[in-house]
Amino acid sequence: MARDGSWPPVPEALPAPIVDNHCHLEYPAGDEPTSVETRLAQAADAGVTRVVQIGCDLESARWTADAVTRFPQLLGGVALHPNDAAVLAAEGRYDEAFAEIAVLARGERIRVVGETGLDTFRTGPEGHDAQVRAFRDHIALAKELGKPLQIHDRDAHAEVIEILLADGAPDVTVFHCFSGHAAMARLAVAEGWYLSFAGTVTFKNNDPLRAAAAVTPASRMLVETDAPFLTPHPHRGKPGSPAMAAITARTLAGVLGMDLEAFCTQIWDTSHDLYGAW
Ligand SMILES: [Zn+2]
Repeated sequence: MARDGSWPPVPEALPAPIVDNHCHLEYPAGDEPTSVETRLAQAADAGVTRVVQIGCDLESARWTADAVTRFPQLLGGVALHPNDAAVLAAEGRYDEAFAEIAVLARGERIRVVGETGLDTFRTGPEGHDAQVRAFRDHIALAKELGKPLQIHDRDAHAEVIEILLADGAPDVTVFHCFSGHAAMARLAVAEGWYLSFAGTVTFKNNDPLRAAAAVTPASRMLVETDAPFLTPHPHRGKPGSPAMAAITARTLAGVLGMDLEAFCTQIWDTSHDLYGAW
C-alpha cells in the first residue's frame, strides 16, 4: 500500500454519536502534525464524540494517563504491547515496566487493560514465551481491577483463545481490530466476548472479515480506528484519526443490514456499558 502523508477529509456526519473504541492519539502521523484538539474536534464533527485512547508502551501509557485528565472526550487503556513486552523481557526490564503499568491502570479514567495478547507477525519465536507471560499478567491485572481487557491478536488466533480459556477471560474481553474469520467470530460471541472492528473491514479484498462481522450481533460489536493506522477505504494508506470511525460504522451497518442511526445508538450504548461514563 502506497503511503500518502496527507490527512483525508472529515467524513460525513453520522446520524447519532458513536465511540472510537481504540486509537493512539499520541502517535505522530501525517506530513503536517495536527493537534489532539483538532483531531477530537474533527471526530466530533463526524459524530465520533467519545474515544478510548490506548497507551501500550511505558511512554504512551504515561501520556494516556495524563491525556484522560485533560480531555473529557477520552477514557484510556494502558498495557505493554506484546511486541514491546518481548523487547523489554530480552533487556531484563519487563518486571519493572509491568509494575508501572499496574499502577497506571488503577487510574479512575483508565478503564481498559490493553492492548495485550500475542503477535507472531512482528515478533519471532524468540519472543514467544515473553509474550505469553505478559498476556497472562495483563489478564490477571484486568481481573484484579475488574476492568475490561482489550486483546491484540495478530496471526495468533488459536493460542490467544487457548490462553483466555485456560486462565479464564475477564468479565469484559474485547478483541481489538478483530481479524478472525466467521468461525472465530461465532466462537468469541459464544464465549461472551466483544469484537471491535477497525478500518480493515472496509478494505476491498477483505470479504472474510465482512463475513465475520455478518455473524456478529450488533450488541457484541464495537467500532474503532486504531488511528493513525488502518485508515478505512477509500483513504487507505493515509494517516487516520478517530473521525474515520464514521466510515467504518457505515460499512458495518451495511454488512448487518441495519438502519445506520440504530446501529450507532447500539455502539454508543455498548461502549458505555463496557467502560462506564466518560
Ligand atoms: Zn492499537
